[in-house]
Amino acid sequence: MTFPLIDETHDPCLESWVESARNHPDFPVQNLPYGIFSHGNGRRRLGTAIGNFILDLSAIADYLPIDQDVLRGISLNELFSLSANDRTVLRGALSKLLCDAGNKDAISVHLYPSDACELHLPATIGDYTDFYVGIHHATNIGRLFRPENPLLPNYKYVPIGYHGRASSIRPSGLPVRRPTGQQKSSDADAPVFGPSTRLDYELELGVWIGRGNEPGEIIPISEAQDHIAGFCLLNDWSARDFQAWEYVPLGPFLAKNFHSTISPWVITAEALAPFRMAQPVRPADDPQPLPYLWDEEDQAKGALAIELEVYLTSAAMREAGLEPQRLSSGPAANMYWTAQQMVTHHASNGCNLSPGDLLGTGTISAPTSDGFGSLIELSKGGKEMIQLPTGEQRAFLKDGDEVRFKAVARAEGFVPIGFGECRAIIEPAR
Ligand code: MN
Repeated sequence: MTFPLIDETHDPCLESWVESARNHPDFPVQNLPYGIFSHGNGRRRLGTAIGNFILDLSAIADYLPIDQDVLRGISLNELFSLSANDRTVLRGALSKLLCDAGNKDAISVHLYPSDACELHLPATIGDYTDFYVGIHHATNIGRLFRPENPLLPNYKYVPIGYHGRASSIRPSGLPVRRPTGQQKSSDADAPVFGPSTRLDYELELGVWIGRGNEPGEIIPISEAQDHIAGFCLLNDWSARDFQAWEYVPLGPFLAKNFHSTISPWVITAEALAPFRMAQPVRPADDPQPLPYLWDEEDQAKGALAIELEVYLTSAAMREAGLEPQRLSSGPAANMYWTAQQMVTHHASNGCNLSPGDLLGTGTISAPTSDGFGSLIELSKGGKEMIQLPTGEQRAFLKDGDEVRFKAVARAEGFVPIGFGECRAIIEPAR
């Protein structure tokens, strides 16, 4: 397995001539994420975030050592299908353009203020698969649904997942309409149909698939990293009342597929090179992964040093000018399986993955409540209320609530890089 290497683009001393990039919490020149943006009524274009600006890569394609059609498209699918080497070369060239002040006159005319731009889905998502690798979430939720038997026996052998719905994945900022559906309370004889009363968020990382595999071909664990183009934040909104009623025997369906929010910038695997870390060691009495999921280098470098945070504001909090309330924070390394193990397992039966497919990690939680990645965990299944500074209380989301995720990758000796916005407001049911 060859993870992207640390090179001159990660040098903490690098400074861009785009001044707002210096010490930018998300987009210093060491990040260089890819996305699809539009400015005013203009067409969709491929860009990179640099400080408070977006650089139009379609307009500077002549300066970049890459097939120009890749940069002039309206999605990142072709860019995702590039080889790891081509992606590294592109990143190196971009870094030089943005750091060498000699390029400023030619390039700066193609910068747009980010707050005057709209960000779109970065890729045409052919397929979306949601995993369940946050072991603390799986344990916490399992305990609510099956108190004596929280983790089923397959969990420590199989990276559990289900096929989700790609059509309802939307970029940050678009409001979430409260879904309607069947729900049955435990003391009722029959379900009713109506707006969800247990609407929740799920804190996840999204994994963007780069190069795909042919039908019938597997992706060996030693090559899985080559098939991952980058990462985003993913809020897999969930209607817990629908979920509890519908999930037996085939798993999640309408509780999960009404809307998922992603952060629209793709944080590349190359940008994350300095933030690789060892996969947490399994407890001594846990089974070892089967050989097709085991790779020494994946165990040594397969996890990522990313800090995740969840913030909530109610409509009343925003009206009163109050700061968002932080609900949780925790490391993304709280995953029982690596992203590479997810990819290899997904293709292990010959299922073909394609550039622009999206994998969700599943909710990333922590052993303690300060890192719980969903309200159903924080409120212990709706029994304990969360206090907001207005005196309001929450067990699940109310209309007007805004949920915002943040993620920052950090490592000693390197400039931290952020993931940008992943937020949405709940709108009333229709
Ligand atoms: Mn999920």
